[in-house]
Amino acid sequence: MSIQVFGIQVSRGVAIGRAVLVASSRVDVAHYYVGVEQVAQEIDRLRVARDAVAHELESLKADMPPEAPHELAALLDVHLMLLHDETVIAATKHWVQERHYNAEWALSAQLEVLARQFDEMEDEYLRERKADVEQVVERLLRELARGAPPGRPTASIAPAAPALPGASAPALTSMPALGAAAPPRDFAGEDPLVLVAADVAPADMLHFKRSVFTGFVTDVGGRTSHTAIVARSMDIPAVVGAREASRIIRQDDWIVIDGDAGVVVVNPSPIVLEEYRFRQRQSELERARLNRLRHTPAVTLDGEAVELLANIELPQDTAAALEAGAVGVGLFRSEFLFMNRGGSLPDEDEQFEAYREAVSAMHGLPVTIRTVDVGADKPLDRAGDGRYDHGLNPALGLRAIRWSLAEPGMFRQQLRAMLRAAAFGPVRILVPMVAHVNEMLAIREHLARARQQLDDAGKPYGPVLVGAMIEVPAAAVMIERFLRHFDFVSIGTNDLIQYTLAIDRADEAVSHLYDPWHPAVLALLRQVIAAAAAHGKPVSVCGEMAGDTAFTELLLSFGLRSFSMHPSCIAEVKQRVLRVDTRQLDAVCAAALSAESPAAAVQAALVQAQRSA
Ligand code: PEP
Ligand code: MG
Repeated sequence: MSIQVFGIQVSRGVAIGRAVLVASSRVDVAHYYVGVEQVAQEIDRLRVARDAVAHELESLKADMPPEAPHELAALLDVHLMLLHDETVIAATKHWVQERHYNAEWALSAQLEVLARQFDEMEDEYLRERKADVEQVVERLLRELARGAPPGRPTASIAPAAPALPGASAPALTSMPALGAAAPPRDFAGEDPLVLVAADVAPADMLHFKRSVFTGFVTDVGGRTSHTAIVARSMDIPAVVGAREASRIIRQDDWIVIDGDAGVVVVNPSPIVLEEYRFRQRQSELERARLNRLRHTPAVTLDGEAVELLANIELPQDTAAALEAGAVGVGLFRSEFLFMNRGGSLPDEDEQFEAYREAVSAMHGLPVTIRTVDVGADKPLDRAGDGRYDHGLNPALGLRAIRWSLAEPGMFRQQLRAMLRAAAFGPVRILVPMVAHVNEMLAIREHLARARQQLDDAGKPYGPVLVGAMIEVPAAAVMIERFLRHFDFVSIGTNDLIQYTLAIDRADEAVSHLYDPWHPAVLALLRQVIAAAAAHGKPVSVCGEMAGDTAFTELLLSFGLRSFSMHPSCIAEVKQRVLRVDTRQLDAVCAAALSAESPAAAVQAALVQAQRSA
């Protein structure tokens, strides 16, 4: 039966494919296809891992002190039994043989199947055995990672699927102890796959860039949560905040992700499927058409040049930025270099290499690198690193520049790396979440010391501009004073909205209150843009509003001429820029600042402007 699940639209378009359910704690498991000739080797990896874990468990049992509670030994026995149970390794092998999943992926896919079966058990004791299966699988995954040959992907970077022969489904029926398994289905091997998870941390989301998935759905998250932002940068249809999705959708279900409406259709009827396939083709045609604008300069009808810059998470994203026709990088979220490293941070040289790679790739176009912005919904490590991820309210805690200033050694290391990269092309340093005058002074001091340290070490470096993110209302209100201390500013609307309206941007429960059209938000935006123009300081918007065409004319009417966004949004925003005459936007600006319902008033003013054009 077809079911619809509603969520929040993240990125547009339609994806149709088979669901791959991934447990949140296992999203950084590598997902890739193995070739026909590698199947035996992959199965061997599973066998070797199983033997190693069995050996480990046997040793633990043998070394157990006599005073240890006997439940411990019994637990190890249960784990050993599970390890040899048909439902674990034998069923996992089928995912490798029939689907050509790599061993880690096969194991997590099988775990999802088993977890559901446990969840559905009547008997509470048996239901609780799910945790044991999870622990056994966790051990196996750790063993597989340990034994992985060099060069093998450790995350979800996956080569294209090989052409698989038509194969039958994994024989998941081999689970006598767990009752009937999902009935076998036909599998063509080349079906597109969509990721379904309860939650995906932003850093894990990054693993899915260039992966096998053509769309994704999560139970949690708001439209501007960092998971959603990274998903949008992948330019695949996605829905977040779909609450029950990972419970309702089953491994292998056919699903449609309608990224425009924020709806997921599970097991669609043939008619619905055909309709979505039609829409999919339409949106591909539309993309191809927009793509032709990529080398057209973004100039309005009245000759106003508009700078369209790219937001990136990794140096390699510069390729997409250039491909989309970006005239520079307006926001390089450097914190993604710092995440999921088990507590160790990238040193100066590693950072320098990453920044230099981005700068060189942009061939003389400016690259705005933001100093590390961890905290809130971007923890350093999934489980927290024990030092910084705690806090009663992480969004209001030690994040962004506050964290950097609390770790001066680390901060100067990052500044040195950025200064060195500036020898290879124009670099602008952007500081997140500045709110106090003493923070600005401290930044300047650290920068001076970083330069001195490079001089002492005889390392070459280049000139940089230093800018502040305006994303805390205090900074927006005091913009005149802030502008004295910085070469440029960039408005982070994602956080500015969060902090102005006191709405957690990552919480889907309050996502309906997260309102970029709120008059307070618009007034602050207008104030910052106007003040920067009056002081002759460059200003851009790098939050999600910049890439959302619903706000293009509005931001232009406020005087904004620099927008930074995901590369995938550039063409559409450019199309709007090419069609607008900024001399006719006064009424739009006035409507936005004075109307009780700015969204409707701006729309009406735009229609009027078009009529009189
Ligand atoms: C913002 O807050 O608008 C912004 C661009 O930064 P981030 O989304 O990384 O917090
Ligand atoms: Mg921000």
